[in-house]
Amino acid sequence: TSSLTTTDPQIAAAIADEVVRQEAHIELIASENYASPQVMEAQGTQLTNKYAEGYPGKRYYGGCEHVDVVEQLAMDRACALFGADYANVQPHSGAQANAAAFMALVKPGDTILGMSLAHGGHLTHGAAPNFSGKYYHAVQYGLNTDTGEIDYAEVERLAHEHQPKLIIAGFSAYSRIINWRRFRDIADAVGAWLLVDMAHVAGLVAAGHYPSPIPHAHVVTTTTHKTLRGPRGGLILSAHGDADLYKKLNGAVFPGQQGGPLMHVIAAKAVAFKEAMSQEFVQYQQRVIDNARAMAGVFIERGYDVVSGGTDDHLFLVSLIRQGVTGKDADAALGRAHITVNKNAVPNDPQSPFVTSGLRIGTPAVTTRGFDEADCAVLAGWICDILDALASGRDSANLEADVKAKVAELCARHPVYGPATA
Ligand code: PLP
Repeated sequence: TSSLTTTDPQIAAAIADEVVRQEAHIELIASENYASPQVMEAQGTQLTNKYAEGYPGKRYYGGCEHVDVVEQLAMDRACALFGADYANVQPHSGAQANAAAFMALVKPGDTILGMSLAHGGHLTHGAAPNFSGKYYHAVQYGLNTDTGEIDYAEVERLAHEHQPKLIIAGFSAYSRIINWRRFRDIADAVGAWLLVDMAHVAGLVAAGHYPSPIPHAHVVTTTTHKTLRGPRGGLILSAHGDADLYKKLNGAVFPGQQGGPLMHVIAAKAVAFKEAMSQEFVQYQQRVIDNARAMAGVFIERGYDVVSGGTDDHLFLVSLIRQGVTGKDADAALGRAHITVNKNAVPNDPQSPFVTSGLRIGTPAVTTRGFDEADCAVLAGWICDILDALASGRDSANLEADVKAKVAELCARHPVYGPATA
C-alpha cells in the first residue's frame, strides 16, 4: 500500500507542518495537551470502520463482539479512575456530553444556572449563541470581581430568585478550587440537579490533586483531551446510584444526540484511562500545578495582575488592564515568538470578547514535554519581557526574534514525540 505522502501529498504536508509546529512552538493553551503515542496508536486503527450503535451487549449491528470488549473496558476504567458507578464513554466531544446531560435532566424552556463565558464558564453552560442559551432559559453567575473568585453568594441568590431546574458548575478559565459541596447545597435548597463539567481539571481530579466533584454532583461531564491527556472526546460520569437517571443519560447520548460511537476514539479513551491510573501520571499532574505556580509567581514579581492572585490548578489568567495592553495584541506578539497562549476576558474587562484585556496561560502541554519549574520561570520571564515592551509602546520586533530563538532552543531540549524536521 502507498503511504499518504504518495496518495495525498497536500494533506500529508499539512500534517507534517503541524507536527513541526507542535515540536517547535511552546504550547500554553490551557485546554491542550500531547496524547501519548499509544493513545494515538489506538485511535489510528481499524476500529474506525465499525458501526456499533447501542451499548455493549445491546447493539443494533452485528460483529460488535470485539468493540464491546473495548467499550466495556473503557467504561470500567473510567468508573475505577473517578470512583463512579456509571460511565458513558460515547460522547464525541465535551459539548456533546453536556448536550446529552441537559437532554436527560431538563426540558427545553426550563431555567438553568451556569457560569457566564465572560467570567470563565463554557459556551455550553448557557451562553446565548449556544444550544444551552437558545433552548433553555439561561441565567448566568460570575466572579466576585474584587477577589476573582466565584461569587457563591450570588449563585445562591440567583438560584433562589430564578428556581433553576439545573445548576452547572465547572469552567474553562478559573484558577481556584471550586467548592463542589457548596454548589450541591445550593442545588438541594432549590430542588435543582447539579451538573459539574470538570473538563479542565479531569486529570488533576484523577490524580487526586483537585477535589473530586463525583461525590457531590448528580452528573459529571468532562472532555478526555485536556489535563486528562487522552484523545479528543467527551465522557459522562455519575455516582448518584440512580438507575433511572443512568438510563436517561444513555438514551440522551444515543439515540438522543448521536448515532454510532467512534470506537477507535473509545479505544484511545480506554488507553488514556489506564495511563491515568499510573504513579507517573499522578506525579505529572503535580508538576503541572507546580509549573503553573512557578509561572504565576514570575508574573506577580514582574508587576502583572494575576486574577485571584495565583493558582491552585493548571492555569491562571493575567489581567493586562492596568498596562493598557489588549489580549489580542499580546497573543499576536507572543505568537510571533512561537509562544502560543490565548487571549481571555478578565473581570471588569473594558474590551470586547474578541479583543479582551487578558491572557489565559496553562501548563499541561509544556509539562508533558518535560518543562520543569526552572524552565517555566524562564519562559514566564520572556513573556513578561514582551508584555513590558507592548506596555511601553516600544518596537518589540527584535525582542520577539530573540525570544523566538530561545524558544527554539528550549523546545529542542524537550522534544514532544521526537525531533521533527521541517
Ligand atoms: N466544557 C468545558 C469546561 C470546556 O472548557 C470545553 C472546551 O474547551 C468543553 C466543555 C467542550 O469540549 P469540546 O471542545 O470537546 O466540545
